[in-house]
Amino acid sequence: MTNTKDKLVKSITGRDEDFAQWYTDVCRKAELMDYTDAKGFIIYRPYGYAIWENIQHYLDNRFKKTGHENVYMPLVIPESLFNKEGEHVKGFAPETAIITIGGKEVLQERLIVRPTSEVLFCDHYSKIVSSYRDLPKKYNQWCSVVRWEKTTRPFLRGSEFLWQEGHTIHATEQEARAEVRGMLDIYNELGRDLLAIPFVMGQKTDKEKFAGAVETYSIEALMHDGKALQSGTTHYFGTGFASHFNINFQDKDGVVKPVHQTSWGASTRLIGAIIMVHGDDSGLVLPPFVAPIQVVIIPIQSAKPGVLENATLLKDNLEKIDLRVKLDDSDKTPGWKFSEYEMKGVPLRVEIGPRDLETGECVVARRVDGLKTKVKIVDLPAMIPAMMADIHKIMYDKALENVQNNTRIATTYDEFKDLINNKPGYVKMMWCGHVECENKIKEDTTATSRCMPFIQEHLGDVCPVCGRKAEKEVFFAKAY
Ligand SMILES: [Zn+2]
Repeated sequence: MTNTKDKLVKSITGRDEDFAQWYTDVCRKAELMDYTDAKGFIIYRPYGYAIWENIQHYLDNRFKKTGHENVYMPLVIPESLFNKEGEHVKGFAPETAIITIGGKEVLQERLIVRPTSEVLFCDHYSKIVSSYRDLPKKYNQWCSVVRWEKTTRPFLRGSEFLWQEGHTIHATEQEARAEVRGMLDIYNELGRDLLAIPFVMGQKTDKEKFAGAVETYSIEALMHDGKALQSGTTHYFGTGFASHFNINFQDKDGVVKPVHQTSWGASTRLIGAIIMVHGDDSGLVLPPFVAPIQVVIIPIQSAKPGVLENATLLKDNLEKIDLRVKLDDSDKTPGWKFSEYEMKGVPLRVEIGPRDLETGECVVARRVDGLKTKVKIVDLPAMIPAMMADIHKIMYDKALENVQNNTRIATTYDEFKDLINNKPGYVKMMWCGHVECENKIKEDTTATSRCMPFIQEHLGDVCPVCGRKAEKEVFFAKAY
């Protein structure tokens, strides 16, 4: 038993030995994804896709409960329409894939494979909105987008990725701003309730905001290696897009006005965040509420009387309370199964064997810390919800501790450079609001400003980079 386990576990690189390789190993060995012959385009294998489905399910519910409707826009955008966004947004130049041939004909107008659907929404809204009675429109789309990336990594950066993009239009600035903040809160709560990831929330600096947005907000997560990962963004567009695309409405006062617009998105990057925040040397560790398999039941000596019967009965009882359960009665050895489900990060493993059955008991092992307890099988269904809540809390607290232990303050620029180059995590520092200082920081250290947190601390009166008056506290980090 131990031999097979050792062999399987040794096949992934140590997390602290080579984090990038460890990450790739986990993605593949936990069967989350696989590569294809088209570089940058991955297969989301069932186990990886199921994590995405659980994220979708949570978000989709929250979106609908806050009055949003799902739509589906086409995969392609005519080039002339696409270029209209470029005219409006300086610096909007995603690497696109372009369709030039349809059937055997060279197309008269080339078609862009959507890198985002902003212009499709703008164009559509300009046609369907004319009065204040038509507002607000709160649309969301689940789809994939294509951005021709040079370097790609599973889930973190791909030429194609899956996401949701919300696009809303409103009669007033106040309503649009409330939308932008409300959706950011939903992303934050996704972390708190489902992913066990504490996010830092705040506003992006002008340098880091989405080109064309008046303001961009983000949730940032800290990975185990101390790098930050932008995990979701919301944008307030003001009336800029509306004026450019003629999305106007006649208001109650009879005056024709441009709408106030927002957009917001989260993607399969979140799967990368889950892996890099929680994983360990034995593989994936999944938070229980997002895990595709929440409980795995492994029969020990399943040929012995009562073992398989009890295991099956337990599975049925757990499914009755809506848990996602797998009974692995395959003929692989229990040791092999233990390490396989460890690799896959299944939160709870239940072992049912002939010896424990004599007293009606089974062994429950937690993936998060390996803690094993013996419990009566009949009591287990009632106990599992509390066990899952416990595990979720342990994982959230551990991740929060990692953020707290790796968030440091710099009051001089030398101190900043020392911390950002030699310690993992965030460095908080005051900033004057000038882009030159951000540029200098990036040049000197490769770190970027992640966000200006909503809860601002006063760490000093001047910007340590230039000595000018400090305007904001900023979280800086090296980032994915
Ligand atoms: Zn400065």
